[in-house]
Amino acid sequence: MGVLTFTLLGLLIGSFANVVIHRLPRGASVVWPRSACPSCGHTLSAWELIPVVSHLVLRGRCRHCGAAISWRYPFVELVTALGFGVVASVWPPTVAPVVSVALAGWWTLLVIITFIDLQHHEIPDVLTLPGTAVMLLAAWAWGDPKSLPSIRDALVGALAGAGLLVFVNRLGALALRRFRDTEERLWPIGFDAVNLAALVGAIGGFTSGVASIAASVAVNLVSRRSIRLPEPVLWAAWLAALMAAPIGVGVLNAVTGSVLAAGMAALVGAAAWWIVDLRTGGEASEGQEPAPGSDEPVAMGFGDVKLAALLGVVLGWERLLVAVFLAVLLGAVVGVAARLRGGGRILPFGPFLAVAGAVTLLVGDAILRAYLTALGVG
Ligand SMILES: [Zn+2]
Repeated sequence: MGVLTFTLLGLLIGSFANVVIHRLPRGASVVWPRSACPSCGHTLSAWELIPVVSHLVLRGRCRHCGAAISWRYPFVELVTALGFGVVASVWPPTVAPVVSVALAGWWTLLVIITFIDLQHHEIPDVLTLPGTAVMLLAAWAWGDPKSLPSIRDALVGALAGAGLLVFVNRLGALALRRFRDTEERLWPIGFDAVNLAALVGAIGGFTSGVASIAASVAVNLVSRRSIRLPEPVLWAAWLAALMAAPIGVGVLNAVTGSVLAAGMAALVGAAAWWIVDLRTGGEASEGQEPAPGSDEPVAMGFGDVKLAALLGVVLGWERLLVAVFLAVLLGAVVGVAARLRGGGRILPFGPFLAVAGAVTLLVGDAILRAYLTALGVG
């Protein structure tokens, strides 16, 4: 299958991405019924559904009621097709079909997440969690330094992504609460497992951190309560553990152990709560996270934590760091620009992560090499 065919396939998938962006946050089925004009409900016929072309021919208006159709529709189709084209030219489907399909699917997920987060300020779990699992499988099936990371690098990348962002989530929220303890009490696994894994990981390294997750869940299950340390105390101990690391497991082991174990706790908890939500038919669409108990301020949404795992699983931990750095940079620039134009609105971070992730897939290696050369290590 050539680049052109793959790009055309991308147009079709982009058209489906539009359906997902429109319907998923509303809890509607993404396969049924057929697409209709959002304004008058007129069911679209086949020739009104041709990606991009229909929009141009109809001059962006509904044939039936004349209502303007958002520019988002052709834009999403074009960006998805662009992703497919780029993926097919760098990783030809004829050479490694698993890689091309996996990366094109990943690109499509990022497009969908960007537009849902922009509009609804949420990132559905059904995109990030299964997406991360599928990309792990793809890495296992076709791990290769030139395309997908090895299964080990993919796993470390996912844990590093979730870990880094969950640190911002916990420490940011703690600062916003002015160092009062959280009221969140989730049983049997919640943010206290993340906190504990961060602390134990900093003291004893990654394996100890992971063991602490299992121990904390077991203790909670047996005692039927949420046994936990107050957050300000726990994070103070964490800081002390990091400073004492040179005489303990070493600074590198303490930092990586803490981040990766916290990421593991965040992802295990997220997966558990997602499954509970699905089974109880809970607000699966708003479905989110272990929500904070009350109206506690949030520095970094938990949806972003899971999105960072989806980036890390494909990029590996080194390029993940590049992506997070780019996302923060992009967010700062756009945030300042929005502020200057008088908009005081809170910007969702997901779109910045998604765009930075896609850019890093293509040029991350070059950025990393340039940076290491500048440091004199490359
Ligand atoms: Zn209409």
